[in-house]
Amino acid sequence: MARKGASFLGETWQLIGAVGRAMGMTFRNFFRRPVTLQYPTVKRVYPDRFRGILALTYDHDTGEENCIGCRLCEFICPPQVIKVEMLKAEKRNWAKTFTLELYSCEFCELCVQVCPTDAIIMLKTFDLATADRREMLLDKDRLHALGLEHPASWATGNRLRDMQAPPKAVKTEAKVEAGGKAEAKEPAE
Ligand code: SF4
Ligand code: SF4
Repeated sequence: MARKGASFLGETWQLIGAVGRAMGMTFRNFFRRPVTLQYPTVKRVYPDRFRGILALTYDHDTGEENCIGCRLCEFICPPQVIKVEMLKAEKRNWAKTFTLELYSCEFCELCVQVCPTDAIIMLKTFDLATADRREMLLDKDRLHALGLEHPASWATGNRLRDMQAPPKAVKTEAKVEAGGKAEAKEPAE
């Protein structure tokens, strides 16, 4: 009987301790600055390399579509969510159709990395929530419109390739002799 009373008191004490610790935590957080925002009224500033939704781009100077329909993005895409039809023309080629099933995209950025004309990019936004899956099947017009609507991430195919290229070999200095004859300088051993 005495043992039962002791265990009851012990459990009660443990319960009071647990409630006290929980209330202490609540009290501390009460005075902390909130980490949440009033989205979508307030939006976070995303980092430059943010990998958000995908878009197609226009050439800033000519206003032409940058996509030449080469299909490299289609071939590299792991879940095969891109489909491109090329339209051959005299001066350059175009994408006749371009579709991207965003609902199955892995946001791996491989399509951006291989694009030779910086035509496909990622945006600094994920703001495309919908309850209708069909709205995530993006066609060429929608992809171009998204590119105009949201800020672009830093990464483009050309920038990424420049960044990943091996450093250029140091050029040997040409030593011009007094008589005007150029001679290559041997690198120091
Ligand atoms: S980000 Fe990756 S998964 Fe998404 S479309 Fe590009 S290559 Fe495909
Ligand atoms: S988006 Fe780039 S990689 Fe894809 S088809 Fe167009 S030019 Fe080629």
